[in-house]
Amino acid sequence: MASFYPLFEAAERVGGDRVEVGSLVPPGIEPHDVEQTSRDADALLDADVVLFVGGGFQPVVQEFVASREGGSFDVLGAFPPGSRVDPHVWLDPVKMQAIVERIAEAFSEADPPGSSVYAANARDYGAEIARVHQDYLDGLASCDRRLIVATHAALGHLAARYGLQQEAISGSAPEGEPDPRRFAELADLVRRGGVTTIFTEPLTDTDAAATLARETGAGTAVLNPLEGLTEEQAARGETYISVMHRNLEVLRAALGCR
Ligand SMILES: [Zn+2]
Repeated sequence: MASFYPLFEAAERVGGDRVEVGSLVPPGIEPHDVEQTSRDADALLDADVVLFVGGGFQPVVQEFVASREGGSFDVLGAFPPGSRVDPHVWLDPVKMQAIVERIAEAFSEADPPGSSVYAANARDYGAEIARVHQDYLDGLASCDRRLIVATHAALGHLAARYGLQQEAISGSAPEGEPDPRRFAELADLVRRGGVTTIFTEPLTDTDAAATLARETGAGTAVLNPLEGLTEEQAARGETYISVMHRNLEVLRAALGCR
C-alpha cells in the first residue's frame, strides 16, 4: 500500500509483476488531510509493505502505521533529519531517486527472492528520473527571475535543488486563509520582484492565489505539486515523469528562462 500518488507510481515501477500495489488516496483527492476509513485501515493492516511520507504529511497514516509490527517504510528515512522538516521531498528528482532505491530495499526485505528484479526495475525508473533532473538543470540554468510564489509550501526541496527561492501563501499543508500581514508582504515581494505568475494547484483551493494575482497584476498558472493526479490526468495516463516535465515548462515560462 502506498499512502499517496508518487509512492504508488514508484512502487508499481519497482515492483513490476511481483507486487500488487494499492494507493490510499484515489485520483482527484488532496492527500494531506486524508481521512482514514475502516476499509483503508484494513488495506494498511493487511499489506506486506506500507510506503508513506512521515514528517506530519499525512498524520492519520502515521498514526496507523505506528500500530503495525513491521514492513512500514517512511521514505523520509532516506534523508538526514534536517530535510525532513518539509515532507515534499518527491518534487526534487534527486531525492525521488533515493526514494526509489528505498522502495527497492523495502520490497527486497519483504520478498528476498525478488531482490534482483527490484534492483533492476529501480535502476530503470531511476534513470528516467535522472533525465528529468538533467532537464531541470538545463531548463532552469538561465532565467530572468528565481522567485516562485506557491499556493502552499510544497516547492522547497525543488527550489533548493535548482537555486530558486520559494515563497508560499500558506504553510506546508494547504489549508486556511493567509493572514493579512503575510498577504501584504507577498504582494510586495511579487511587485518588487516583477513576479509574473502565482502558482496554483489542481487539487487545492486557489482563491488566495487568484486574489494575490489580481491585486498585483500577475497571472496564475497551475504547477502540480504531485500530491496526486486529477481524475483526468489519471485517465490520460499521466505520470510523475510527464507531470514533472509539464511543471518544468510552466516554471520556465513564469521565470523567463532561455
Ligand atoms: Zn503539500
